[in-house]
Amino acid sequence: MTARVLVVDDIPANVKLLQARLSQEYFDVRGATSGAEALRICDEEQCDIVLLDVMMPEMDGFEVCKRLKANPRTHHIPVVMVTALDQPSDRVKGLESGADDFLTKPVSDIALITRVKSLVRLKMLTDELRMRAETSRDLGIEDPFAEAAKVSGENGRILIVDDRLSSYDRFKRILSRNNSIQIETQPQEALFRAADENYDLIIVSLALENFDGLRLCSQLRSLERTRNVPVLIVVDPDDNARLMRGLDLGVNDYITRPVDPNELVARVVTQIKRRRYAERLRDNVQMSVTMAVTDSLTGLHNRRYMESHLQTLVEKAQEKRRPLSLLVLDIDHFKAVNDTYGHDAGDEVLKEFARRVRKAVRGLDLACRMGGEEFVIVMPETDIGVAVRVGERIRATVAGDPFPINGGTRAIDVTVSIGASTLAAGSDTAELLMKRADEALYNAKHTGRNRVSAQAA
Ligand code: GH3
Ligand code: MG
Ligand code: MG
Repeated sequence: MTARVLVVDDIPANVKLLQARLSQEYFDVRGATSGAEALRICDEEQCDIVLLDVMMPEMDGFEVCKRLKANPRTHHIPVVMVTALDQPSDRVKGLESGADDFLTKPVSDIALITRVKSLVRLKMLTDELRMRAETSRDLGIEDPFAEAAKVSGENGRILIVDDRLSSYDRFKRILSRNNSIQIETQPQEALFRAADENYDLIIVSLALENFDGLRLCSQLRSLERTRNVPVLIVVDPDDNARLMRGLDLGVNDYITRPVDPNELVARVVTQIKRRRYAERLRDNVQMSVTMAVTDSLTGLHNRRYMESHLQTLVEKAQEKRRPLSLLVLDIDHFKAVNDTYGHDAGDEVLKEFARRVRKAVRGLDLACRMGGEEFVIVMPETDIGVAVRVGERIRATVAGDPFPINGGTRAIDVTVSIGASTLAAGSDTAELLMKRADEALYNAKHTGRNRVSAQAA
């Protein structure tokens, strides 16, 4: 996982120090020594995450953060405030200015790397959603993320899993002002409750009497219904080994005992807000996209969506110098299916075909029905070799089993021809990419059908 991290601190030695430690983890690190410089770098879309010193002359970290969060071009970049240990009120101020996380000086290695990694992971997920949202906006559908940005991190439903009265009472006192709190002292019960109810956050103590809290975290992560609920663990100061295990398991955040109330409130609000933002964005994008850009017969994306989104994906791939490949699929002698068995049977074949295609591709791939019996699959992060293998898998899954028609009372053989192309470095375009895949498809049709053919750039 590589990402561009911007370190902002008015003291160049501090920048150097963090730069060295992050570079060791293979992050691509840039430095800035003033707020103005940081704002410029972010506006030029040159970073994935910002580590921001609070105390700087001219423009302090709070102001920089506020401006980043107010600018639609930089609003989504995660900001980590680096605050002085003796300034707990800074955390609250940081939160009010929209910061996503906090680190205290002197910054420990484990905190630095884990916080940065978890925010990078989160940004990658939201970037994908944002890209889809941009596409729907380009298509003239209402803006899905202006609305999502309005979510608040308050009034959350929180489950605290802890068996020590003095400990959970304290949590409850700190958090119940802004949230509805439930306590569960039986870890085994906690999993059921989490699956039954829609919590915004689960706080798990790792100091349980007869149970390993990490086991619960692992179960929460593997259960479909609880997979996306944020989990915050409470750890003892010197328990780095278990903290690392927790973060590997996919725990979202942690707080160290003795718990600082301001930090707890700040982390809770941040987690809840993030989860709601992602959920809202996903819902909004899904709804608007589904309605306007879905092919009603097969449920795949339609041509309109494909053409617009392909453009976006090609631009991203070129910008990041990542591979991208494309398949064009055309069912063989489909006209004969209609002519022999009727149009309804043809529709049944199209639906079953789409079902098999969907099963054969990854979630990241974009499968579309271009019209008639022609389909396109766009595969980001995929070179031509892999694309041909995916094409071959689809060809085989189509030819392998007959397609049921007439409501399942009979079955017919269906085959498909597939053309593959891949994005070339330099001045390649979406149109040329499509054209080469069409040429490859033509080639597959003319060399006997039921085959995959690739066209070099
Ligand atoms: P080839 O192997 O060369 O691709 O031959 P083909 O018969 O598949 O190609 P052709 O383009 O000649 O015929 C495509 C047919 O697909 C003609 C059209 O009636 C049919 N078709 C297009 N859209 C639909 C649809 O939504 N439902 C059904 N049932 N048929 C459709
Ligand atoms: Mg400073
Ligand atoms: Mg055809």
